[in-house]
Amino acid sequence: MQEHYDIAVVGGGLAGSVAALAAAAEGWRVAFIAPQPPRQDGRTTALLSGSVDLLSGLGVWAAVEPASAPLRTMRILDGTTRLLRAPPVSFRSSEIGLDAFGYNIPNQPLLDALQAAIAETPLIERFESPLVHAAQSADTVDLDLVDGTRVTALAALAADGRGSKLREDVGIRVRTWSYPQTALVMNFSHGIAHADTSTEFHTEQGPFTQVPLPGKRSSLVWAVKPDQVDTILAMPREALNLEVETRMRSILGKVEVEGDIQAWPLSSLIAHSFGTGRTMLVGETGHAFPPIGAQGLNLGLRDIMQAMAALKAAGGPAQAPAAVRAFHRERWLDVTSRTAGVDLLNRTLLSSFLPVQALRAGGLAVLSALPPLRALAMREGMTPGWRKARQQPAA
Ligand SMILES: Cc1cc2nc3c(=O)[nH]c(=O)nc-3n(C[C@H](O)[C@H](O)[C@H](O)COP(=O)(O)OP(=O)(O)OC[C@H]3O[C@@H](n4cnc5c(N)ncnc54)[C@H](O)[C@@H]3O)c2cc1C
Repeated sequence: MQEHYDIAVVGGGLAGSVAALAAAAEGWRVAFIAPQPPRQDGRTTALLSGSVDLLSGLGVWAAVEPASAPLRTMRILDGTTRLLRAPPVSFRSSEIGLDAFGYNIPNQPLLDALQAAIAETPLIERFESPLVHAAQSADTVDLDLVDGTRVTALAALAADGRGSKLREDVGIRVRTWSYPQTALVMNFSHGIAHADTSTEFHTEQGPFTQVPLPGKRSSLVWAVKPDQVDTILAMPREALNLEVETRMRSILGKVEVEGDIQAWPLSSLIAHSFGTGRTMLVGETGHAFPPIGAQGLNLGLRDIMQAMAALKAAGGPAQAPAAVRAFHRERWLDVTSRTAGVDLLNRTLLSSFLPVQALRAGGLAVLSALPPLRALAMREGMTPGWRKARQQPAA
């Protein structure tokens, strides 16, 4: 059996699901190749305002907003015991004229809302069988699924994650590297209100980051050494509650960890190219790095916006090769600068080398002392290239 589509989206994680809806919103017929995920995603995602705008435009935000909490202050505290320690730095959205930087949303309700919207979109056809082989010709991308179905499309978006089969079959290589870190992910309730503030403690093992959820609840991403994971997972809940409260310096009062704890080994990946032929890489297929500063999925959603813009500018999926070349050029700076920035910050946490500590502490001290520089960093964190856009004359 062979089916023909304008766009094939491979992978049904957050990036692939948004990509399928975004392509259908352009009026294109979409093949969504998305096997059911092996487990529930216990993480939360801090979505910056540009990402929230995208979800609103796709009609999904209203369904997930009640499960989300606004992020109005992002605070960095040095939680190391090193000789050189950085001063606290707080970034407030009001300093750059915004009500909130964005919203923290649990991944699973977000994914469920995206899948429900996809099921109601006539232009999207879902295939639950995984991709087993892909090949590109001058005119199409041909995708063979495990169940024997062949899907043919004018363009493909590879959103099948770090180990992407589509990326491999179209010949794009990646650079990968790992860190001696695993992120433990959990939600907790607390006695004191979080006041829409996220606090990122920088520790010798990496970030320990609390992010607000609705009510007196928060999510936590706690980077630990891989050999500490089993010990922490085996802790009696009372002891774990106390450990989290102590590491939070009791700023949110008494802590009660809820439900399961998930462990995510940390590594980075960057593709040598973000597209070739008729195929573009979106989300973690093209780039991945540790969860510092809420960048990963936000970067992936910018890939999707740029992919749509490039396809439209080129004249639609039939002109995919021109769109793919433009997409690669446009994404390069944003992706490489975020990947390098997060990698550098993470390494400065892990390194006990004094000059490296001085660099990190000095950088944060400058940000703490200079409001204009802090505002610049906030604007760049929210919208890459905002200064370039501001300088361009209106069309
Ligand atoms: C602890 C942690 C906290 C994070 N917090 C944030 C945050 O606050 N803000 C932020 O912006 N980012 C955050 N991130 C990053 C964010 O979670 C990821 O960028 C995002 O989940 C990646 O989504 P994805 O769809 O690109 O990849 P994935 O979720 O990996 O999806 C890939 C999909 O492809 C499917 N697939 C695989 N092989 C095939 C195949 N052969 N055929 C078809 N389908 C296939 C898989 O089943 C899967 O569904 C965090 C990451 C971690 C680890």
